Amino acid sequence: MIKSILNINAHAFAKIALGFGLVLLAVAAILLATSGGRRMVGITLAPSDVVVEVKSGDTLSTILIQHNLTGRDINEIDRELRKCDVRSLRAGSDQLVISRPDEETAPNSITLICGPWKRVEITRDDGGWSAHTIEVERDIRMVHRTGRIRDGDSFYNAARRAGMPSGIIIDVYDLLSFEIDFERDVRAGQEFSVLYEEHFADGVKAGNGAVVALSFDSLRGNVKMYRFRKNDGTFGYYDENGNGAVKALKRTPINNARVSSGFGNRRHPVLGFTRQHKGVDFRAAHGTPIPSAGAGRVVERKNAPNGYGLYIRIRHNNTFDTLYAHMSRFANGVNVGTNVKQGQIIGYVGSTGLSTGPHLHYEIIKNGVHVNPLTVKFPSIDNLDAKSKERFFPLRDNIDRAIETLRNHPDMFVQM
Ligand SMILES: [Zn+2]
Repeated sequence: MIKSILNINAHAFAKIALGFGLVLLAVAAILLATSGGRRMVGITLAPSDVVVEVKSGDTLSTILIQHNLTGRDINEIDRELRKCDVRSLRAGSDQLVISRPDEETAPNSITLICGPWKRVEITRDDGGWSAHTIEVERDIRMVHRTGRIRDGDSFYNAARRAGMPSGIIIDVYDLLSFEIDFERDVRAGQEFSVLYEEHFADGVKAGNGAVVALSFDSLRGNVKMYRFRKNDGTFGYYDENGNGAVKALKRTPINNARVSSGFGNRRHPVLGFTRQHKGVDFRAAHGTPIPSAGAGRVVERKNAPNGYGLYIRIRHNNTFDTLYAHMSRFANGVNVGTNVKQGQIIGYVGSTGLSTGPHLHYEIIKNGVHVNPLTVKFPSIDNLDAKSKERFFPLRDNIDRAIETLRNHPDMFVQM
């Protein structure tokens, strides 16, 4: 028989009330007493239980026939599973635990494990087979990791050294992409910290959740962000004043591209004389996709053989335009008048026009004047209104307090 769910002893926790439902727990106490018996998410196995990992090509009937169940059993089980919204088994993720009272008897209990958060228990009694779904409660813990950039370091290396999982690092990259250019703005000595969720099912870690808060010392000052549930139920990220972390434009449309020529006066590589360079050149391989830096409408899509080559200009709002030059080709369906989303591919890197090699020439035009894309300040596009701020500020303060505590106790976590 399948043993009941393993529960963690409540007395094992040291709880420190933090207010607003945040509770600090000593993580050392969570080391589970798993002595005796195999264990998987949510259940403890009896010695005679058989665990079947569903593989490609497996069906419920092929598996159950191998375990001495009849066609009639299988039909009944199938019907019961449908009531629990299970129509087929998922290869590579679902597992079946098949239990029997003793070696001689056919199975009388089957547990279908559909990932860490759901399982279906199917049991037989005198009335036949019946099934019910068990939703596993998500236990969300917030952990804090802090690090410092060393000489010659990338943010990724420093974050790994600080113990952050790569999925969380990628989320942090995305969140900071409006504020920080990770190729050029990262310096030794910069400090960062991230508060993020770890999800547990019945005391077993099932994965990482969202980034809850972060802080990064950028060249333009310390950047902070907090995750906040908006009035419409969706989540957004906001700085300490409640301004949206997502900005109207991205500083560098192509991730990880290197600047080959900056903004300002320079000797033109083709024309040979000195003139103002009105944009920034990003070196990138021929054919690299070029995403739009922000949402907007295409206002020019032209070929200028003696200058920009194939280029596109996008109007984002009354203040900002961006321009992308020397493309090898335009993306399909992107024409003058097309509305594009932030991140939508508009064309591909090339070397058309006056150009010495494949690169993206990128310009930002603010109120008709060219500005340096690497230093211009961008407006937020999703600031909190006054009513939302009334909820946001206490949450921010609580998160700050939790971080202060965790900073001194890195082996602890905060529970929501
Ligand atoms: Zn250029």
